Amino acid sequence: MSNPIGVSVLGATGSIGASALDVIRMHPDRFKVVGLSAWRQADALASLVSEFSPSVVAAAPEVLAGFPSEANGGCAGAAYCSGAGGLNSIASHPDVVTVVAGISGAAGLESIFSAVKSGKRVLIANKEPLVMCGDLLRQAARESNATLFPVDSEHNAIFQCLPDGLQREVIAGRGLKGGPSHPTVSRITLTASGGPFLRTAAADLNNVSPHAALQHPTWSMGPKISVDSATLMNKGLELIEACTLFGLDESQVEVVIHPQSALHSVVYFEDGSLIGQMANPDMRVPITHGLSYPDRIPSGVAALDLVALGRFEFEAPDTERFPCLELARAVISQGRSAPVVLNAANEVAVEAFLGERIRFSDIPSLIEAVLSRHDNAPVTELGQVLEVDKEARAIACNILAKMLIG
Ligand code: MG
Repeated sequence: MSNPIGVSVLGATGSIGASALDVIRMHPDRFKVVGLSAWRQADALASLVSEFSPSVVAAAPEVLAGFPSEANGGCAGAAYCSGAGGLNSIASHPDVVTVVAGISGAAGLESIFSAVKSGKRVLIANKEPLVMCGDLLRQAARESNATLFPVDSEHNAIFQCLPDGLQREVIAGRGLKGGPSHPTVSRITLTASGGPFLRTAAADLNNVSPHAALQHPTWSMGPKISVDSATLMNKGLELIEACTLFGLDESQVEVVIHPQSALHSVVYFEDGSLIGQMANPDMRVPITHGLSYPDRIPSGVAALDLVALGRFEFEAPDTERFPCLELARAVISQGRSAPVVLNAANEVAVEAFLGERIRFSDIPSLIEAVLSRHDNAPVTELGQVLEVDKEARAIACNILAKMLIG
């Protein structure tokens, strides 16, 4: 076999990073860790550096300050860089072929751009960059011959169900409409578990705690995405992500609640066939697919046991109790800077909810209020996206100050 492929893992101590490193650990003949980043968890990062011996490590300055020096052992040979520049350097390092983008929220945006502009194969597990500026990322990928590989489980499922020719169009940043056989795909369905409050009455949603919101019934994930799953904003962001990645209209993407989280999404073909992808809900499955594509290698996840699963259930989402889904649909229709604002307002709202500063049901209200105060405008470059993001966060913080739990 040829030399192992160089991989950088952005967000190495988070949930996606841990899954990716689990897979890499299983296949030392195929993958070699070149870059690792973590923002806060110094001890966890130090242990990964000692295990994987990367060439470059990026972390927050205060984390690096506490790192053992080379003389103390454990980190010999690695270069250390701090801040956003450090993230960019591990994303674009010349020995790196594949970048696993697992940083939660908008914080991962610039490093993904660095990876795409350097022509890397980018496994996009964090949806926020695609929501904020998916068109710009696709354009950059077309220019640099980078590969945009969907690793969000639903989008990876859709990707797996496509014929080869369309898969190549999608990862090259051209979407389904660039493909020769686009007319065969009529629409897609994203499945959603429904989150921990699927059966919670509307009145009780006022009083649910952050702790309860973090108890996801089927997936084990980081705090931000767990709250997004509880509000259904995760599915709203995924709607935007799907329209961007696959070049579909909002009317071609449906959301269906499927509490078992076994069928990860479905593609509808014009002959009436539906093709879906099934697996146990474990991010190692889509991450392994992204790392090894077009091969298939063991992920460490057992195959789904259909008899043990027993039944498949589907239902329409309740958009009255979970208004975030409709907020996202409206934003897709508005386009331009509106998705950036939705994402920024949601990040501020989720953080405020996790800090017990607002109620669960305040999350969609805050997002709606920020959207209504924003003048939608075109965004044609990364600098504008970051500016809109900053402004929207400032508006959200202003509104938040008036709605804090007193
Ligand atoms: Mg997902």
